[in-house]
Amino acid sequence: MSDGPVLGVLGGGQLAQMMARAAKPLGISCIAIDPNPDACAASDAELWVSAYDNRETLLKLAERADVVTFEFENVPTSSLELLEGRVRIDPNAEALRVSSDRIAEKRYFESTGVPIGPYREVSNAAELDVAVREFGLPAVVKSCSGGYDGKGQRVLRTNVDATEARAWIGETRCIYESFVAFDRELSIIACRSREGEFVAFPLAENTHEQGMLVRSVAPANVTDETETQARRAARKIAERLDYVGVFAIEFFDVGGRLLANEMAPRVHNTGHWTIEGARTSQFENHVRAVMGLPLGSAEATGHSVMLNIIGKRPAPDALAGVTGAHIHDYAKAERKGRKIGHITLTGPDATICREQAEIVNGRLGNLMPG
Ligand code: AMP
Repeated sequence: MSDGPVLGVLGGGQLAQMMARAAKPLGISCIAIDPNPDACAASDAELWVSAYDNRETLLKLAERADVVTFEFENVPTSSLELLEGRVRIDPNAEALRVSSDRIAEKRYFESTGVPIGPYREVSNAAELDVAVREFGLPAVVKSCSGGYDGKGQRVLRTNVDATEARAWIGETRCIYESFVAFDRELSIIACRSREGEFVAFPLAENTHEQGMLVRSVAPANVTDETETQARRAARKIAERLDYVGVFAIEFFDVGGRLLANEMAPRVHNTGHWTIEGARTSQFENHVRAVMGLPLGSAEATGHSVMLNIIGKRPAPDALAGVTGAHIHDYAKAERKGRKIGHITLTGPDATICREQAEIVNGRLGNLMPG
């Protein structure tokens, strides 16, 4: 056990794993908490197998760690309350509160002047009927909390879908969103330090299938005006929240106008390309920010395409003859619809990089959830 600085992480998945890997060269060790004894962060962090709200574990963590952070936003309120005042927590509780509830998040975007699409809170069949009348179809209904990777959400296209939704919605607090006919999906990964230093990586263009991210291309081919809209929104949100650490905002690009979809108060899948594709990775910058260190440059070093490996490991020759490919295997068991690794292709030429990515993509045997 080292005597150096210690970062506590709630969650022991691949985000904690990559965070811990980035922390090591900075002389920082990580303790990850996860109820799963097979949590993959054990490869790079000291893993404490425990429930997230176990009092004894949290008190011990508050004693051992200099700072506590997390890799997911649905941290139990009781855990935060126990840690607060005992150890520094970043990002702060307000950032978690805002981003762990879809309605709170939309209201926050509205209050900061960040454009969003039409939405309404619906918690029963009668409210659903009102929303269908008001906004029409198609629409997306998502549970307000707990959903990720397309889980907890359904698209309503027809009146039959809307009628069926009356039955499954029950008493669940949901958000009814008009279906946005976007041209593409973009995300920004940004980071703010304790001193208010702010850096943002170039935008990534993302492709989702069945609600799951399958590909990110960065830097996205966008105008300066689009880049500025995203940076401005990210900066405003970070400053108002007095945010410390890395966060992501996902946008729908509708004819050059960005509508914010959601925010994640953590390192994000659409920023994995930064490990090889930027001067400083999102993981290193997150560690730097929360540990009170100066931030590194978020400049891209070339062009990158990140492909998620979902459900099944690619064949050993999947990268044969391909240049600039970096494979990350999270050492997780294969399971349909589960992210078990990613591949980033990098290079100085956007076209070549994208062509190489298409070759690899064609060789992936991803097993999607549906
Ligand atoms: P989310 O969990 O909100 O990130 O949604 C996952 C994915 O579903 C998004 O990245 C989009 O591809 C799609 N999606 C979510 N909400 C909408 C919407 N209101 N209109 C169109 N597509 C959506």
